[in-house]
Amino acid sequence: MNDCSHIEESLSAYLDGELTQQDRQRVELHADQCDRCTQALAELTRIREGISQLRQPEPNEIQWSRMMRLTATKTSRGVGWIAGIAGGVVLAGYAVYEFATDETTDAFFKVATAALAGGVLLLLFSVLMERLHARKSDRYKDVEL
Ligand SMILES: [Zn+2]
Repeated sequence: MNDCSHIEESLSAYLDGELTQQDRQRVELHADQCDRCTQALAELTRIREGISQLRQPEPNEIQWSRMMRLTATKTSRGVGWIAGIAGGVVLAGYAVYEFATDETTDAFFKVATAALAGGVLLLLFSVLMERLHARKSDRYKDVEL
């Protein structure tokens, strides 16, 4: 038991692999018979693992990958919006063109349908504006959408 303080001083070096073969065996032999030093060794190992876990992934790296993921999500969502709206506009334009040049439909029906299409486009536009505005004023809320 008299050994204890001496062994405890060596535990850190033991874990670092800095002890000579002889000293290492001395620590191991002692720890085999001494609960206190076995516990101290376990505690020290645990603390070191905790520290290395905290330090292993560079904080910069975590932030970087999180930022990249966020950017990727936002970019793909933005592209999705633009592609969807562009597709919708092209389709609507094509439909309006086909409809307007169709001579079998009468003018009143054409005007009414054009008004309807215009209304839908305006609605889409206002929703888009609202979303753009919301994204600017609150960048974090739309993350879970
Ligand atoms: Zn001991």
